[in-house]
This record gives sequence, structure tokens and C-alpha cells, in this order.
Amino acid sequence: MIAVEDARERILGFFNELEAEDRPISESLGQVLSEDIAGSFNVPPWDNSAMDGYAVRAEDIRGASASKPVTLQVIGAAAAGEEPSHRVRRGTAVRIMTGAPLPAGADAVSPFEDTDEEERMSGGRPPKPPKEISVRMSVPPGGNVRPAGGDVAAGETVIKSGSVLRAAEIGVLASLGRGSVRVIRRPVVAVLSTGNELIEPSEPFQPGKIYNSNSYGVAAAVSAAGGIPARLGIARDTVESISEGIREGIASADVVITTAGVSKGDYDLVKDVLAQHGRIELWSVRMRPAKPLAFGMLSGAGGRQVPLLGLPGNPVSSLVAFEQLGRPAILKMLGRHDFERPTVQAVLEEPIFNYDERRVYARAVVVKRNGRYYARLAGGQGSNVLTSMSRANGLAICPEDEPVKEAGQVVTVQMVDWPESVF
Ligand code: AMP
Ligand code: MG
Repeated sequence: MIAVEDARERILGFFNELEAEDRPISESLGQVLSEDIAGSFNVPPWDNSAMDGYAVRAEDIRGASASKPVTLQVIGAAAAGEEPSHRVRRGTAVRIMTGAPLPAGADAVSPFEDTDEEERMSGGRPPKPPKEISVRMSVPPGGNVRPAGGDVAAGETVIKSGSVLRAAEIGVLASLGRGSVRVIRRPVVAVLSTGNELIEPSEPFQPGKIYNSNSYGVAAAVSAAGGIPARLGIARDTVESISEGIREGIASADVVITTAGVSKGDYDLVKDVLAQHGRIELWSVRMRPAKPLAFGMLSGAGGRQVPLLGLPGNPVSSLVAFEQLGRPAILKMLGRHDFERPTVQAVLEEPIFNYDERRVYARAVVVKRNGRYYARLAGGQGSNVLTSMSRANGLAICPEDEPVKEAGQVVTVQMVDWPESVF
């Protein structure tokens, strides 16, 4: 048996960041940038108005107040999307809408609410602007003006290569006129379930059979980690059937994930097939659940090497093992470095037992009360009890060398992105 950290380190040693590709920005969420992003022009491109109001010369309305308003002649209007055609000279103003380029000669905007605009407007849509306007408040030069380049100065690098693209970064790319972007591509992850007992969720219930939940749960976990899952369906517990699935995985995917068939039972053939098609690198990890777990390298046509992660069959084991060992591998291929989930220190409300010196990952519900985190078990801890995984928002850890974590003790909880987040 190998410790979880050692297994992770060894497994990660077989994964590399994937190549870069061009993606439409609308499909790049969560991917890692593979170029520095700089503006080739200013954003905004010109000084423009931050308010609906009147473009003025600040000098003309210096000292204006409600009791001493300054009256200006309105010489035209400027709307967003139009090039300004007027020049603001002494004693004049241009009616201006938010985002419209500031007309020449103006250096500030007096917002409608600081003028007598409302009293002077005559109705209709669009309303007819007044010929004159009285300004009741002064504005400093530059007031209510968004300067050219105030967001992005031409030539300035605004997003560094290696950044993860979130909503804001995708917005910035669009603001720079970028329709596509160079990012590390997402790994294709083949997911193959094995087992004579399995039927697909849409099939009618049959005595002796169980529904294949692993393929769907693991594929969803792959998506959540940023991979592209390719479900290869169900292989039966024969060398031929598993080999066929694995060959398909080698040909089409960056990594193959299998579930079940890695224990010591009569029909546990995944390790044999892995040994036939490649090489077993490790088997059996010091953790609960998910001890029986295999990892190795498959060899395909033309020397193609594809990693295989053989997850255990019990549904909770497969998800917990994926969380500890599969997700970091996917993140590494995506070019990310933040493999660890956030952890919290929580006061245990009931004990976690450790029977055989493995690292226990207990499904837990973490809540925050009066500034402290508390963790209780999310339900039955059998590795077949998937609903307690569904109720959990974290995995509370009892270390290998501690036979029990008692109620009242503080534990580390790995927060996973299953429901009921406490942050
Ligand atoms: P095995 O590793 O093949 O002995 O499987 C361990 C347990 O997990 C058995 O109870 C299997 O029925 C169950 N199991 C295996 N594969 C799946 C699956 N795809 N979905 C749900 N349960 C499974
Ligand atoms: Mg089986």
C-alpha cells in the first residue's frame, strides 16, 4: 500500500500540460491562457462621458450653484456610437449620453440632475432637447469623464499567460476585440465502467443487476474538473471486453479511467488487462474508501502512451479516488497549478474511526456557526452509500496514524464542490 501523497506524486509524474489551441472566447471559460494579452489600442479608445448630461468647459461653470446658475447655449447632441461633430466653445454645451465620445473643447460633463434640464424638456420619445440649459453645480476639469486608456492603455499587458480565464477575463478579451484566444486544450478523458452486473440507467430494472452510476458520476466529476469526458459504456468482466474498451480509450483519449474490477475478486480483471496492454505503476493506496486502485501506462499503436487510472467499483470510492488522484491529473494537463481543494479546520461533532491505519476521508457536512466551522458526518460511511456523498460538502480527514478523531477534536476538511458550500 502506498500513501495518498506518494500515489499522487507518482501519478502526476506521468502527466504533462497539454498543447495550446485557439478557442472561441465564449468556449474558453476555466481554461489556462497560453499567451500574454495586451491591448493594441486604448480601452476606452477616446475620452467619453460617464453620465447622461451636458459636455461643458469646466471653466465656464466654475462657481455655479442653485442660487447662482450658469446658463449655457446647447449647440447639439452626442450619442454613444457616434463621432462627435461639435466643438464646445465658451458659453456652450453639447447634450451627451453615457459612453458618447467627449466633443472637442469640452473637458467635463455636468449631469442632468445638476441642471434645470427636467423643467426645460418638452416630451416625446426621444424628447426634444432645450436650446439653453442652466447649470447649478460646478464640475472640476475631467469630472464625469472616463479618460481614453483608463481601462487598458495601448500596449499594456493586462492578462498574463498562465492565468485561468474567468468571466472577467473573458469580458476583457471581448473588450479588446478578441474573438478567440490561445489556451491549453482540455484533456479528453475516456470513462469505462466494468462489471457483469451493470445496466444503463435508461434500461428497465432487472433482478440481479444494478444501474451503472459510476460512469455518470465520474464523467460529471471529469467535466467539473475541466476535462472532456467520453463515456465508453460498460465492459463485461472478461479480458476481451475490457481490452476492447481500453483499446478504444487509447485511440481516442488523453487518459483512460476505468471503474471496478481492481480488487482481489474472481472477476477483477482490470489489472490483468492493464498489464497486457502496458505496465502497472501502482496498486492499492492507503486510504478509506478507495484502497483498491490501479494506475499504469497503456501502450498503443505507434508507441502512444496513455495513462490508465483504475478506480474502485464502489460508487463513493470511485468519486473519492477521482477527487484525490484523478482531478489533480486533469488540472495538470489543463496547465493549472492549484491542485488542492481549499481546506477548513472544523470541530468534529461525532467521531471518525480509523480501523486499519489508512487515511480516512469521511463524508461530512460543514457549517459555520459564530465564526467557527463544525463538521458532522453526512450519513452512512459505507463505500456504497452514494447519497451521503451527495449530502456532503467536504471530506473530513482522519490521518493514518490516529485510530479515532473524537467529537470535539479539530479536523481538516477538504472542501469539495458538491452542494451546500459554507463559504
Ligand atoms: P468490484 O470492484 O468490481 O468488486 O465492485 C465493487 C462494488 O462496486 C460492487 O458492489 C459492484 O457492484 C459495485 N459497482 C461496480 N461498478 C459499478 C458501477 N459502474 N456503478 C455502480 N456500482 C458499481
Ligand atoms: Mg466487479
